[in-house]
Amino acid sequence: MPHSLPLEGVLSTSEADLVWAAQDFGRVVHHRPLAVLHAASRHDVAAVQRFAQTHDLTVVPRAQGHSTHGQAQAPGGIVLNLNHLDTVHHVSPDRMVVDAGATWSKVVTAALAHGATPPVLTDYLELSVGGTLSVGGLGGASHRRGAQTDNVLELDVITPDGTLRTCSPALHPDLFDAVRAGYGRHGVIVQAALRLVPAPTHARTYRLRYRHLPDLLAAQRRLVTDQRFDYLEGQAKLEDDGTWTHLLEAAHFFTPPAQPDDTRLLAGLPTAEPEITDTTYWDFANRLADDVALLRRIGPWQHPHPWNNLLLPDNAVEEVVTTALSEVDREGLGDSGLVLLYPIPRDRLRTPQLHVPSTPIIFLLAVLRTAPPDSPATLGRMLEHNQRTQDLAITSGGTIYLRSVDGTGGGNGTPVADRAGDR
Ligand SMILES: Cc1cc2nc3c(=O)[nH]c(=O)nc-3n(C[C@H](O)[C@H](O)[C@H](O)COP(=O)(O)OP(=O)(O)OC[C@H]3O[C@@H](n4cnc5c(N)ncnc54)[C@H](O)[C@@H]3O)c2cc1C
Repeated sequence: MPHSLPLEGVLSTSEADLVWAAQDFGRVVHHRPLAVLHAASRHDVAAVQRFAQTHDLTVVPRAQGHSTHGQAQAPGGIVLNLNHLDTVHHVSPDRMVVDAGATWSKVVTAALAHGATPPVLTDYLELSVGGTLSVGGLGGASHRRGAQTDNVLELDVITPDGTLRTCSPALHPDLFDAVRAGYGRHGVIVQAALRLVPAPTHARTYRLRYRHLPDLLAAQRRLVTDQRFDYLEGQAKLEDDGTWTHLLEAAHFFTPPAQPDDTRLLAGLPTAEPEITDTTYWDFANRLADDVALLRRIGPWQHPHPWNNLLLPDNAVEEVVTTALSEVDREGLGDSGLVLLYPIPRDRLRTPQLHVPSTPIIFLLAVLRTAPPDSPATLGRMLEHNQRTQDLAITSGGTIYLRSVDGTGGGNGTPVADRAGDR
């Protein structure tokens, strides 16, 4: 693509870059762009936005590429690689200013050096700040603190006409509301001021296993209401005999000599033998790192991931989860598959673009599967199942989290291959 742009970074049309930009963690959708800009500064971001607007091209920002349905791809347009814009500019006890390409692991490391932490972390920390602020960013602390998008103080955004604007609840609030959970389609976040809170040094994790789903839901409803834990999640686990069990996962953060009061924390929950583990706060926040390293080494990390993330209303959660999981066996989950299920009070989620069900408590259901790399039929079956579950969830008042940019969850039947016209 010939150009005369004054760029500090590299505008590339190399085969390797186009293939890279047409791939994401999901490995389900593959759209090749016309070019990739490896941005080296915010001036690059503005220059390419202006160029694209003049030539009627789409620009789509991309950071870690952990999308699962092509959200960071630009069919026939320009993919803007933001990974090099990852400087931590400033840290104080209650605020950090960071470039949007920084990963949350870099953010947490920098914050902990000042005895602070972001209040809400995703389960996995190698996602970018811009990437999660463009979808919402939910985790075990969301039941108390909302989404990551609810904990951002100010954003520097380059709008599609190439203008740099600072926005916040007080300054250009419309832009602030459009870019948070806006999937990069209303501007590129180049810098974020993030809220920080005092960090604990340790986390005590409690795991309670229930045979029946209603017991897990009863425990979660109680805990989401009295908020006695700092972190609240849960899982459905597929056992070797093909049945499902249900795992409550909750954590209390502390700094010795203070110690958690186990009796108080577990009082009134449906009976189950608790498994209790103490770790440092950093090890707790970064708990997926070892599993991910293993999955990378043995292969599944590089396989297709037809993930399905739904937000369900409290009054339909049991029916949707039961129906969805009744069709999932070991093959349908994949070797490294995982099902997350946890509650969030609706009033904690205040990001306008994050569409959530209307009940006071909502549940995140995430069916996170891995398909074999060499079986399009299996992948197709998983995607069809996702579509059926999404249809049921929506009919029941649910919404899709991490939707495709066309508004669906990407579960519509067949993988989207490279289109000849995109080449
Ligand atoms: C292993 C794994 C664990 C996960 N865990 C969680 C979790 O616990 N909670 C949760 O909420 N989500 C989770 N996710 C989903 C994740 O938050 C989203 O996929 C997120 O968008 C990924 O960030 P990324 O840097 O990879 O973004 P990319 O995939 O690069 O981009 C994602 C979207 O953000 C846009 N975007 C990226 N950077 C910018 C920017 N600077 N400005 C504007 N738009 C931008 C892109 O255009 C695209 O629409 C997980 C995903 C994976 C693969």
